[in-house]
Amino acid sequence: MPTSNDGIMIILSSPSGAGKTTLVNLLAKKNNYEISISHTTRKPRPKEIIGKDYHFVSDHEFKRLINNEEFLEYAKVFNNYYGTSRTPVIDKLNKGKNILFDIDWQGADQIKNKQLDFKLITFFILPPSKEILYDRLSNRDMKDKLIAEERMKQFGRDVLHWINYNYVVINDDLESCYNKINNLINAEMNDGSKDYDSEYIRKHVENLTS
Ligand code: 5GP
Repeated sequence: MPTSNDGIMIILSSPSGAGKTTLVNLLAKKNNYEISISHTTRKPRPKEIIGKDYHFVSDHEFKRLINNEEFLEYAKVFNNYYGTSRTPVIDKLNKGKNILFDIDWQGADQIKNKQLDFKLITFFILPPSKEILYDRLSNRDMKDKLIAEERMKQFGRDVLHWINYNYVVINDDLESCYNKINNLINAEMNDGSKDYDSEYIRKHVENLTS
């Protein structure tokens, strides 16, 4: 059983384009939560900082970490490997730190199935509509349009995993989405009442997938 001195695990997942990374950073900053820094075989993007955004490693190093059983979870996402190393996360949770995980549904499933001795709350972030998502994913030139269409197809597959999360939150406006997540975390931590309309969410997913 988790004790009140232990930290809690908060997972945020979403299909591409729902604005999850901004939310994770806002939650960490405003609440002093720690963000779990993943390992990845993906190459760094121009503004990314090594060791802050990710630990960037080679395929060979990633395989070594898998073989050494150093990952709490790992998965292949868009042709690259991503994984959460166990020791830093568990050490921080034992010290009472709350940890945020920006990981995909495969990683969320693995952590959930581990049934660790720490409280776990999982969130799936969705865009307000298919049209808004398409706008967020596309740019003006044709090449970007093709990429956006490919991502829309991927969205259709990813969205199906909403059912495995504790809460689904719609990112219509950053501040209000942050508040919804924050209120749900606080309600979970204090056994308070939860402002959550699961029927509304079910209908929203139906609209997104129709
Ligand atoms: P990006 O390459 O855009 O930073 O991330 C691509 C996807 O990989 C995102 O959905 C992100 O949440 C997911 N991801 C990042 N780190 C991890 C991780 O450690 N494990 C898993 N399973 N997914 C991750």
